[in-house]
Order: sequence, then structure tokens, then C-alpha cells
Amino acid sequence: SETLSGKAALVTGGSRGIGAAIVRRLAKDGAAVAFTYAASEEKAKALEAEIASQGGKVLAIKADSADAQAVQQAVSQTVEAFGRLDVLVNSAGILIPGLVDSYALADFDRMVAVNVRAVFVATQAAVPHMREGGRVITIGSVTADRSGFAGSSVYSMTKGAVASLTRGLARDLGPRGITVNVVQPGPTDTDMSPQGEIGERVRPLIALGRMGKDSEIASLVAYLAGSDAGFVTGAALTADGGYLA
Ligand code: NDP
Repeated sequence: SETLSGKAALVTGGSRGIGAAIVRRLAKDGAAVAFTYAASEEKAKALEAEIASQGGKVLAIKADSADAQAVQQAVSQTVEAFGRLDVLVNSAGILIPGLVDSYALADFDRMVAVNVRAVFVATQAAVPHMREGGRVITIGSVTADRSGFAGSSVYSMTKGAVASLTRGLARDLGPRGITVNVVQPGPTDTDMSPQGEIGERVRPLIALGRMGKDSEIASLVAYLAGSDAGFVTGAALTADGGYLA
């Protein structure tokens, strides 16, 4: 069932992890998918080739989310390539941990630029191209609601910010029939997921006793992208295996 056939999507941070799973899933559901990456050029090219070999329309775009102009250009390139834009997924994100005493302000600024400012910039650039039924989906985190561990204050702040931004944008864009939602994953098995000692402390706190798979986050994004989610907006949807339960 190709629920997104005829639609075009842009996924930021699609070269690895949750973003790559979202690219694969939206392409499987029939969408033409552009995605951005910053550092992982080889992985981006391999993913682009994988989807093209399956007959999907795909475009990998190098665009550092910290660079507003690059993000705006990625939106333009998507519209040029596919002739439309229906779904924006803001998935690019970074985690620079650290305690308040020693946290560098340059790291604070980088976290805000990639995790928050880029979400606003991409949304601002994308929505003029969207018609009724448009979708903005941001990957937040359960850390918006539960930091859980020392050293995550700035990360938690950025994810709280995009949750609030989502509610505000839902109000701005509701009259145009564009929905805006945030997906809040719990600990998910990617390069970013809690490793080592923190990983061992996290696992017993998850009701299902395991971390999530990137595809299990992508399926929630696919639901929000489709017409079944037409009345869902301004919502924070959690997929955390019961970490917050
Ligand atoms: P990964 O570290 O596995 O992947 C991050 C992705 O974001 C990569 O594709 C990376 O591309 C891209 N990216 C990072 N910085 C930039 C940048 N400046 N510009 C463009 N792209 C960038 O992370 P996850 O897949 O785990 O995380 C994806 C999202 O999910 C993030 O927003 C994260 O905060 C969130 N999340 C993750 C959880 C987890 O447990 N894993 C839990 C809750 C939320 P490249 O390598 O090319 O730079």
C-alpha cells in the first residue's frame, strides 16, 4: 500500500539512524524523498543509491543544519527536483552532554542552532510550498518531559523548545490545513543512543526492557505523514517502550 504516492518529502539528517529509517519508510510508502546530511557523505550516497535501485525518487543534499542558508537551499532543491513539497521531517539532531559547571557556551549555541533554530528555519522555508494536507513532523525526545540523568540539561532544553514550537506552529498553520506534530522517541538504538554505563542504567527503566528500533520511530512518522492523521496537530506523540510510564 503506497499511502504517500504522489507526495514529496524532505527529511533533515537522513544519512544515519532514525532519519535514515524515516527516509526508507517514506520511500517505501511511495513518497519522493529528499534528505539532508552534514558529515556522513558515504552513508548518504549509499542510502540514495539503495532507494534509487528500488525505483524510488530520492535526492541526498549536503546541508549543515547550523547553516540557515543551506537549509533554505535544501528546501528549494527539493521543490525543484520533485515539483512539490508535502511533508517536512526535522530529524537532524545532536547531543553534546555536559554538566552545567563546565558546559561550553559554544556547545550551547551549536545545540540550539542544530536542534532548534534549524527546525524553525526549515519549517519557515517549507510551508510556503505546502498546500492543504501539508505535514511538519519534528523528532523531539522524551527528554522534553524527563531528563533522567545529569549532563542532559541543554539537550532536554532543545527538545522542550521544539515541543513548544510545535504547538505554536500548529496554531499558525492550522487555518491552512497544515498539521504540525512532534514525535518523542525514548532510548532508541542508533549511534546517538545511550552507550556503556548510561545504557545499562537506562534499560531497566524501559517497560519493554529494550531500546527502540529506528524503524519503530519511522512508523509513527509515517502515520503522521499520511491522511489517517488528518485531525492530529499540535501533538507530542511518544514512542519510548514505556520509559515514561
Ligand atoms: P544519529 O546520531 O544516529 O544521527 C543523526 C543524524 O542527524 C545523522 O544523519 C546526521 O548526519 C544528522 N545531523 C547531525 N548534525 C547535523 C547537521 N548539523 N546538519 C545536518 N544533519 C545533521 O542520531 P539519531 O538517529 O539517534 O537521532 C535522530 C533524531 O532523534 C535527533 O533529533 C535526536 O535528538 C532524536 N532522538 C534520538 C534518540 C535516541 O535514543 N537515539 C532519542 C530521542 C530523540 P551526518 O552524520 O551526515 O552529520
